[in-house]
Order: sequence, then structure tokens, then C-alpha cells
Amino acid sequence: MAEVPTERTSVLEADQGRVSERRSLWIEEGARKMVKVETMDSRVVRILLEDVRACYLVRGERTVLIDSGLPADAPDLRQGLGRLGLNASDLDAVVLTHVHADHAGGAGYLVEDNPELKIYVHEKGAAHLHAPERLNEGVRKAYGSRFDRVGFLHAVSPESLIQPLRGADTIDLGSVVLRVLDAPGHAKHHVVLHDEASGALFSGDALGSRYEGLPNLVLSPPSDYDPEQAKRTIDEIRALHPKTIYFAHNGPYRLEGESFFDELKAKHDLWVRTVEGIRSAHRQASVEEVIELFLTALPELRHYPSQFFSFGLSVAGILNYLERKERNHVLPAA
Ligand SMILES: [Zn+2]
Repeated sequence: MAEVPTERTSVLEADQGRVSERRSLWIEEGARKMVKVETMDSRVVRILLEDVRACYLVRGERTVLIDSGLPADAPDLRQGLGRLGLNASDLDAVVLTHVHADHAGGAGYLVEDNPELKIYVHEKGAAHLHAPERLNEGVRKAYGSRFDRVGFLHAVSPESLIQPLRGADTIDLGSVVLRVLDAPGHAKHHVVLHDEASGALFSGDALGSRYEGLPNLVLSPPSDYDPEQAKRTIDEIRALHPKTIYFAHNGPYRLEGESFFDELKAKHDLWVRTVEGIRSAHRQASVEEVIELFLTALPELRHYPSQFFSFGLSVAGILNYLERKERNHVLPAA
């Protein structure tokens, strides 16, 4: 593990004020980038929003959309479907890997376009879709002045459209069958979807992010990140022997060998240990200060400024986990 600095002031003085600047990078300033629509293979099309949020259209005899971007992405998502000659009425269902705003945001809007559209989501996330006030409040806190770029989640209504998912459920598209795996860790309301026949695994955020040209990075945001569950989920996914991982951030990654899974588990351990070390050395440090110290302790992460917003969320999520753990003395139940 990289050494955790104890001389807080020197680090903070050098970097004072730069966190907020960095944190703006993840949500782009200025004009929105064009939506990209790319065919991955005969079953899968990627609709890429602002180059950072991937939704996957999966086609058998029936068609589902996996994840739906931010609420503010709704016009782009409609445009992306339109480029394929589709609209929300051509979808048989939307499947949400989890109910974070950058995955569940478009669902309510698509239901407005197609009032019969079914929305599949983990049973623990279902209530949030029908009553998204708490989600909107959480997003407002996390994104602050950037909230306008995120937008408001619209309720999925009527509630009967929401189809709760549990592990081992299947979503049958005819020639394509998606098997559901309960995948807590990143969030307790997380599922991943496995197409056994093709070896495709739609991982949402359960396996972190994988942007082109960047390494696999942990995603551990508030409010219920749990590293032990995340590592168990990684092992369960590994046991499925997927061939290709379709990350929600940001695209397909062909697995070569099994080191990917061990490396990712080790990163969870490293990130949690690092934040834990900073926290015990700097009890009074603010979240922003802990983020700076984290980037100092793991200097290789400074090579990825586009991810600073995400790193900030991940540090906040680890802090939240450590506080929960300390409060409860034992890990909270799922
Ligand atoms: Zn997420």
C-alpha cells in the first residue's frame, strides 16, 4: 500500500481549491456531446451518452434496454433509439442494473413515451422508482451546483409497471436469455445480467469502470457501498466465466485470463485501507481534504483527471462505509 501522508497541511496548501475544479470534470461543461450509437454484435447495441454513460439495447425476439442514463440524458436517449428506427414503444422492457441516477434517470421519461413499458429493477430499489424524492435529494447533495446537468428523476407510474428482480430470475427475450445475479457491494439494489449463450455480462457498476485507455477503477459511492459484499459479488461473477464485460462506464471489455478479478478485489482492499489510514491520521479532515490526501497516497490516480469526480464519490462512499462499520461494530446486514 502507498504510504499515507501525515503532513496534512503541505498537501492541502498545495492543492487548496482544486478539488472543486476537478470535481466538475465528470459532468461536462458547455454543449452536450453527441449521442453515439454503436453495434457491438448481433445482439447488443451500445447507446453512449456524453461519452461516459453506456446503455445497452439487447435484442432477441424481444428487445430490452439495460440502463437509461441520467434524467437529463432523456432527449439523447430518445435520439439514440431514433437513430435505430426505434422509440420507447418498440422496447419490451427497460432493465436497470441499479437505481443510481446515472442508470435509472431515463426510465420515468421512457414510461411517459410508452405507458405500458415495464421497468425491471432489484426488489430493493423498486420503491425508489415509484417515489424518487429521496433519490433526487441524494443526487442534489452529491452533485451540488451541477444538479441541473443531472436533472430530476420522474416517477415510474403506475407502480404496476415496476417489476422487482431477485437473484436467479431470468429475462427471456426469445433467442436471448438474461440471467439475473444479485450483485450487492456498489449498492445493495444492484443486479448484473448474464447472457450465458454469448458470455456477455452486463455489469452496471458492480465491477467498477473501464474507460478506453484507463485501467479498471473501483466505484464505491455513498450510501451503501460495502467492500466485503463487493468482493463476494466479484467472485460470483467470476464463477460465471463471462467472456465479455459490458461496463455501464463505459463499454465492452474482453476478458483474457482471470487476473482481472483478483486485481479488482485488491483495489477495493487498497482503496478502503488507504481511506481508513487517512481517517485515523486526520480525524478532523473534511471529505474534500480526505479526497486530496487519497490522491496523494495513490499518486497513479492523478493521471486520470477525468475521473476525479468519480474518485471523490468513491472516497465519500468508503468514509460512509467506515462510519457505518464503526457505529455498528459489525458490518450492517444487506
Ligand atoms: Zn452506481
